[in-house]
Amino acid sequence: MVVEDIEKIGIIGAGTMGQGIAQVSAQNGHEVIMRDIEEELLEKALEKIENNLSKGVEKGYVSEEEKKETLRRIDTTLSLEDLQTSDVIIEAVIEDVGIKKEVFRELEEVCDSDTIFATNTSTIPITELASATERPQKFIGMHFFNPVPMMDLVEVIRGLETSDETRDLISSLAEKIGKKPVEVKDSPGFAVNRILIPMINEAIFTHHEGVASKEDIDKMMKLGANPPMGPLELADMIGLDVVLEIMKVLYEEFGEPKYRPCPLLKKMVRAGKLGRKTGEGFYDYR
Ligand code: NAD
Repeated sequence: MVVEDIEKIGIIGAGTMGQGIAQVSAQNGHEVIMRDIEEELLEKALEKIENNLSKGVEKGYVSEEEKKETLRRIDTTLSLEDLQTSDVIIEAVIEDVGIKKEVFRELEEVCDSDTIFATNTSTIPITELASATERPQKFIGMHFFNPVPMMDLVEVIRGLETSDETRDLISSLAEKIGKKPVEVKDSPGFAVNRILIPMINEAIFTHHEGVASKEDIDKMMKLGANPPMGPLELADMIGLDVVLEIMKVLYEEFGEPKYRPCPLLKKMVRAGKLGRKTGEGFYDYR
């Protein structure tokens, strides 16, 4: 298969990432079928995509025609069987190895042997997920970043048996939908999260130890290192539960104390202060 042969993209999971991947795929000419487990979640996802496109129209990035065409290309379903005719399937369900493996086992039953399976996992080894299928050569990691329509990078991760052809095809697909693919080894946290999340964890330690206030930590990092957002603001955007989960994986997989999650991070997650999504994290959003 070459990239020109990819017409239909199946997306499993209509959450934050699934929505974004559906949007950019459809905006770049692909037919999309998106599957989730509740009708309401699919409706919400379509609404979010429509709002996003409308904002693009207001700001002049997207034409009315493009918005209409993009929405027309996105279909939704509760049934996995409807993904049978997809050329590539991108899985973006919750970060749970058992659920992801189950999804791939079910897909294996439904899809042609030619269909390429990609996973958007942040931390689970690609080789482990590929083992749930009988097509490890056609299985690959395709790690998008949030918010998908705005973030250019896609980390492309081969499992132990992923073929060159699958790698080339998925890199070309990433480019076709407007992204910049970079290949990275199947190693815990891949590259970006391995660097970024411990940096956020260290910022939490710095705050926890009273080295500087949270506001000053964010201010100093913005002024001194020039990211668009301070590390604690970024933690609130990513979700403190997600940050903790990634630190735990790095700590367990590498077995090195430098990946120890900050006790304050654990405490905040236990208290349900997960950041923007719960209205409170390091900052108050209510
Ligand atoms: P999310 O919780 O927003 O969405 C997950 C969706 O999967 C939910 O709508 C849920 O109903 C659905 N789902 C669960 N089981 C399903 C099944 N069997 N079939 C179909 N749908 C099912 O999660 P998210 O933030 O979109 O993350 C999805 C994946 O992307 C995770 O693996 C995560 O690690 C990864 N990821 C997330 C981010 C991020 O910043 N949020 C960035 C990169 C990668």
